[in-house]
Amino acid sequence: MISLRRKIITGQVVGFILIAGVSVANELLTSKEISHAVTELAIALIVAVVTIYYTIKITNYLNYIISFVRICSYCNKIFTDNKWITVSVKLRKGLDQFTPTHGICTDCYIKERFK
Ligand SMILES: [Zn+2]
Repeated sequence: MISLRRKIITGQVVGFILIAGVSVANELLTSKEISHAVTELAIALIVAVVTIYYTIKITNYLNYIISFVRICSYCNKIFTDNKWITVSVKLRKGLDQFTPTHGICTDCYIKERFK
């Protein structure tokens, strides 16, 4: 996730630099008013800072959500990599740092639903 965050923020920074550069160049070439160019640069900078700030907040929240691992309330299987596996299989694969939460695995759902 950190790598994804870095890619997103890098893309945003490059985009804002391009937008600011084109905007300032356009202002200097057309109106030749430095104050207008500085104003546009300041606006682009403010938007960039706010956007990057919220990108960091959102990716922090996503990291928090991703850290939850569903555990079946009936049989204690763990949902990981889009499938329900037993705790022993998970232990063999290695433990990542995770926060447990509860759900119902597909097998137990079918068993409980058609009791
Ligand atoms: Zn289950």
